[in-house]
Amino acid sequence: MARYTDSVCRQCRRENLKLFLKGDRCYSDKCAFDRRGYPPGQHGERRGRKPSDYGIQLREKQKVKRMYGLSEKQFHLFFSRADRQRGITGTNLLVLLERRLDNVAYRLGFANSRAQARQFVRHRHFLVNGKRVDIPSFIVKVGDTIEVREKSKKMQALQDSLDAVVRRGVPQWLELEKDGMKGVVKGFPLREDLTMPMQEQLIVELYSK
Ligand code: SF4
Repeated sequence: MARYTDSVCRQCRRENLKLFLKGDRCYSDKCAFDRRGYPPGQHGERRGRKPSDYGIQLREKQKVKRMYGLSEKQFHLFFSRADRQRGITGTNLLVLLERRLDNVAYRLGFANSRAQARQFVRHRHFLVNGKRVDIPSFIVKVGDTIEVREKSKKMQALQDSLDAVVRRGVPQWLELEKDGMKGVVKGFPLREDLTMPMQEQLIVELYSK
């Protein structure tokens, strides 16, 4: 699978939005977007041409894809799955992305970023309903419990993340039992629970071409 190896902060600058990809650094004065809030590259500071409709749709798709840290192929698979579900495809897509285990672990505060959450999942630090799950794209259901394995509870990185979750807050569709390092999925997220600026209908338009 193709891997993005450049500085992740360039992605925020390209999308003109803080995507919060680097944990604590995003909240510090070292944030590259706060320092240089213009597109990366030699001509980044120049005013660009008016983007086409296709360009706007493409940027929206890239933004959401990068926010959740997915490759094009993974993102397209999620879109296809959302398209097969009943309801509004764009909303289905965002809800599915939120239900990924790596995202849930991040939302619960078990990791400082989705990238770190993905690594923790792969390293088998979490149990879902008491069973070890090491697939970051695992989709949680209502009533599922996600907990840190007993052996992993002493990990400093995990404890630091939990201390920092106060800053982000836990979404209302999840419940965190901080002392037990355990969370429960109370329900699926609603569109209004997702507060980052995302125009999912543009992604639907892009993939419908
Ligand atoms: Fe984006 Fe975080 Fe880098 Fe700032 S520090 S540019 S929010 S990834």
